[in-house]
Amino acid sequence: MQVFHQIKPLKEFLRIQRCNGDNIGFVPTMGALHEGHISLVKQSIAENNITICSIYVNPVQFNDASDLLKYPRTLESDLEKLKIAGCDVVFCPSDNEVYGKLPALRFDFQSLDKVMEGKYREGHFNGVGIVVSKLFNMVNPDKAYFGQKDLQQFIIIKNLVEDLSFDVELICAPIVRENDGLAMSSRNVRLTSEERIEAGLLYKSLQKAKSYLLDGKAVSETISEIKRFLLSSSCIRLDYFEVVESNTLKQVNLISKDIQISLCIAAFVGEVRLIDNIFLHD
Ligand code: AMP
Repeated sequence: MQVFHQIKPLKEFLRIQRCNGDNIGFVPTMGALHEGHISLVKQSIAENNITICSIYVNPVQFNDASDLLKYPRTLESDLEKLKIAGCDVVFCPSDNEVYGKLPALRFDFQSLDKVMEGKYREGHFNGVGIVVSKLFNMVNPDKAYFGQKDLQQFIIIKNLVEDLSFDVELICAPIVRENDGLAMSSRNVRLTSEERIEAGLLYKSLQKAKSYLLDGKAVSETISEIKRFLLSSSCIRLDYFEVVESNTLKQVNLISKDIQISLCIAAFVGEVRLIDNIFLHD
């Protein structure tokens, strides 16, 4: 496994691979890797000649300085996990390497970055758009792998790729979960043991809502029931619970089999903010 810290040698290496006819799969991450990340890496390995994983905690997408500071950084064990998974290349640049100067460019994704995460994390998707565009230009991958876990991020990147004609195929991979259904997240390590147990309620609430909606309960009534259900936990503080059309992220008031619908949740469990989502129809 080759590890690069700088753009120039990385580009040179990938140029040679491309000349040899290899296609390149790319998995961008912020490190603190878990089985969710590794599932993306394994999917890329299965579908490409060369898999590159980037590890970079992008400061520009954090609107909360303490969240950035507390974000777990575990480079050594990340590299070990990637090696075991069979990853070919890792790119872990410094802030200076990625941002010689802070970009003046600002993205506006219209309605897509004004809802859900966008309401609670101002500037977050601008930062995601900037770093993903930079990484795509550095790596120039054939395929890039993202998790359904960050559904809004995936939809925004899909629009970004279309609007700017990036020559990359995007893959949305399923969410890997713990035994109790909690979506794996780098942030889960910050939960206390009591909070870790309570965090399982987020997935339970998504499942509950799904069965209510499939049984014909109205969307508004379902959301009210879920809010009541989550109030039973003393450590959970809900930011939002939304029923949205999966591609536009617009709120849905009437359930129909003809549109793909997602149920999305964001909540603090203690001091840790977690997100999750499921599709209404399998
Ligand atoms: P992050 O390091 O949190 O930015 O995540 C890097 C990529 O891994 C993103 O595309 C995430 O959506 C994806 N990811 C994070 N958690 C999971 C999970 N539990 N299952 C599958 N993919 C995930």
